[in-house]
Amino acid sequence: MSEAQLKPAPAPNVETWGAFINGEFRPAASGKTFPTFNPGDGEIIGYLAECDEEDVDSAVRAAQAALPAWRKRTGASRAKLLIKLAQLVEANGGKLAELESLNAGKPIRDSKAIDAVTAIDALEYFAGMATKVQGDTIPVPGPYINMTLREPLGVVGAIIPWNYPLLQAVWKIAPAIAAGNTVVIKPAEQACLSVMYLGKLIAESGIPAGVVNIVPGYGAAAGAALVAHHVVAKVMFTGSTVTGKRIAAEAAATLKPVGLELGGKSAVLVFEDAPVDQAAQVAAMSIFSNQGQVCTAGSRLFLHESLHDKVLEKVVDIAKRVKLGNQMDPATTMGPLISARQKERVEGYIKSGKSDATLAYEAQVPKELHKGFYVGPTIFDGVSNSATIAREEIFGPVLSVLRFKDEGEALALANDNPYGLAASIITRDVGRAMRAGQALEAGNVWVNTWGAVSSMAPYGGYKQSGYGREMGFAVMRELTQEKSLWVGVR
Ligand code: ADP
Repeated sequence: MSEAQLKPAPAPNVETWGAFINGEFRPAASGKTFPTFNPGDGEIIGYLAECDEEDVDSAVRAAQAALPAWRKRTGASRAKLLIKLAQLVEANGGKLAELESLNAGKPIRDSKAIDAVTAIDALEYFAGMATKVQGDTIPVPGPYINMTLREPLGVVGAIIPWNYPLLQAVWKIAPAIAAGNTVVIKPAEQACLSVMYLGKLIAESGIPAGVVNIVPGYGAAAGAALVAHHVVAKVMFTGSTVTGKRIAAEAAATLKPVGLELGGKSAVLVFEDAPVDQAAQVAAMSIFSNQGQVCTAGSRLFLHESLHDKVLEKVVDIAKRVKLGNQMDPATTMGPLISARQKERVEGYIKSGKSDATLAYEAQVPKELHKGFYVGPTIFDGVSNSATIAREEIFGPVLSVLRFKDEGEALALANDNPYGLAASIITRDVGRAMRAGQALEAGNVWVNTWGAVSSMAPYGGYKQSGYGREMGFAVMRELTQEKSLWVGVR
């Protein structure tokens, strides 16, 4: 059942957002709109311009027109505008957090404490980067000086998912424009209100018209048009592995580079020397945060056989204390999944888990939440690493618990998966932490913690979790191209 089928009646009293093109909000050329929902009760909370190829073309042309002046500015002048935007995000943090929770379903306490705050940090950090894009001088032999110039790519296309709309938008926009590119971003159709509101703040910040353009719409229309557009120099994508593969294939037609941050099936490894309480807390946080709708979710928990029972018992205790509820209530610690479709998918995996493994815990969704897309914490024990629930990304609060005898077996099992986004190791043994840190086939490895991410540290995947890196100096290299300039000195 699609969301549209679920609530077909038009809601007249909610806001309609146009596409943000060339500094102003405007309807789609077709005049079409699509609804967006509160996943907590299925109600329509807004309409958005349904952009298609024509709107994407207008946005790309606006970005192209804005490019020469924007890239010619000094880094310091771009930095000032990013700082201004950071201040506006700070001043509007409450509103942005509210829209994020209302539309994406995440608990308001998290939107306020994590999403709104991290967005400011990222804008400030990449403002700093605007003055640090520079090349090298290379002592080549012969009567020459060789120098490298780091130049912007041009118009960058960004396509983002619905699990962290505001953060994803900022992580794509800020480094791209800091480096002198201009951007067309397509937010996910399920949750774009916070991104549209960010557009309003971008307009207020003084960032010139056309430098950032936002085209809401469906993946197959607006997303595909952005990937296919011959003016778009690079596509930065975050989303599912299936869609990432399609985008990489379609981008090949215009030989467009792509950055892909895709799905995961991350392992949390708890060794025999681990403190049980800390291990259980890290394990629970890694799978229940944001309803498990996190690319790096620790969905496979590997427990050494000597402490398997103790850690599992504590994780179940934590799961029992999860407060499933209205995401706008500050006491809620787990909100609804994003959509009816996602709920159905996750429930399908729970069904498959029930036939392949032992159900250790399944929360019941209270009656008053039945209108929303809720699935509570669910834990399976005795899972085989080859079971569907241990191999495929579920993107819900569903944990698979597996057992191991020794370090070698744990690392081999953790690596035996097509994904390679992240892994966590819980141990007090520094040698083991370093060995495992080296051996794990994942782009992000955490020791005695989970989920730490910073604008300063590279973030990305190994294997089928994608390629390219976001954050830090790494993303600045991804968003610039290097020119080798030779000067004869004779
Ligand atoms: P999900 O299946 O959870 O919706 P996706 O990876 O399909 O996740 O979506 C992530 C983003 O990719 C969204 O903004 C979506 O609209 C977009 N998208 C989906 N299909 C395509 C496509 N064929 N081309 C470009 N973008 C797409």
